[in-house]
Amino acid sequence: MIKAFKDFFIKMSSDEGNAVRFRIIYSFCFVIHSFYAILFACFGITELMIFNIFSSFMYLTGLLAVRNNRFTIVWILLVSVEIMLHSLVCSYFLGYEYQFCLYSLAIIPVTYFMTYLDPEIKHAVVMSSVLAVIQLLVMILCMDWCGVNSSVYTGYPNALINSIARLNLVAASVILVSFSVMFIGKINFDLNVLKSQNDTLDHLANYDQLTGLRNRNHIHEIFEQYIKCTEPYCVVLGDIDDFKHVNDTYGHSAGDAVLKTVSSIIRENVGDGGEVCRWGGEEILILLKGSTENGKHTAEKILDDIRDTEVLSGKHSIKVTMTFGLCDYSDAMNIEKLISLADKRLYIGKKNGKNKVVAAN
Ligand code: GH3
Ligand code: MG
Ligand code: MG
Repeated sequence: MIKAFKDFFIKMSSDEGNAVRFRIIYSFCFVIHSFYAILFACFGITELMIFNIFSSFMYLTGLLAVRNNRFTIVWILLVSVEIMLHSLVCSYFLGYEYQFCLYSLAIIPVTYFMTYLDPEIKHAVVMSSVLAVIQLLVMILCMDWCGVNSSVYTGYPNALINSIARLNLVAASVILVSFSVMFIGKINFDLNVLKSQNDTLDHLANYDQLTGLRNRNHIHEIFEQYIKCTEPYCVVLGDIDDFKHVNDTYGHSAGDAVLKTVSSIIRENVGDGGEVCRWGGEEILILLKGSTENGKHTAEKILDDIRDTEVLSGKHSIKVTMTFGLCDYSDAMNIEKLISLADKRLYIGKKNGKNKVVAAN
């Protein structure tokens, strides 16, 4: 039940929703006019009965005809003009005191909302403002010229007049409240779309598409957080050994598969204990929270896991190793120096047979 209501609300609030919103307006107007057609028939007010039968018929036809989000202008003009005429005719025959004019007031924000939501309408605000002014003029006209004593049908008891006025007040308020809720729903929907687009852009800008690791774009930002935190941390730079050979022997897509596997092994091992970033090519930079000992242990564990893993690509089973250079946050004063020290140690590891972790010069 709640889910059905939520789905309905989302649909109303989404860009697909103008047809649904028109169906709501037309259903509501159909119910109101049918009710008044019966009521006026009971009281023998033939002119208003006929008017309401026609209005009910128009809304029923509209309800069946609204299929897509097109023709907003036609649908909104139909409902606006009908409400205007209804306000005038009811006030003329019965008097202003019955408050039929409230519908003219209630339809004003609905007009702005519906026309604004249709991208094909160029001057939605101008058009809605013109309609709003006409509605207001109609209301003033009814107020000035259609007093209860000067109307065609007079002599009804005050209790009846008050009841109908209250009913009109409630119905007009229902229109205003439901459209305010839909308006908030639409804003929330648009904000969510914007947020998810921002998240996608953020991901494209900050994450490597192949490995899913962070790219080096905001490594400075992350470093700042580590520096501010004042907790010990290590910088580890890793490079896959003989990766060119993998590409040359098994092909570039096999190389990509190796990169992905190695990246996920590293990410799994690091977990919440640090950050992993694709530094470039087959080089990976890791920030590890904790002491050098802890960093060395994690790097050794990563290396073991990589050594033990076979990457399957086509009919090939590929094994690789990696070399790591590691330094401690206290080894240098800034990011560039820390990375260059880790790189220096990585280079030492490469020179001394690869497939190892180097934590000292
Ligand atoms: P070393 O052990 O000294 O690191 O040797 P290496 O072969 O790993 O290093 P080298 O710098 O000679 O070659 C790195 C190769 O990595 C060359 C480049 O084409 C390849 N490479 C870089 N990025 C990617 C990628 O995204 N996918 C694939 N498949 N290969 C990549
Ligand atoms: Mg390499
Ligand atoms: Mg390299």
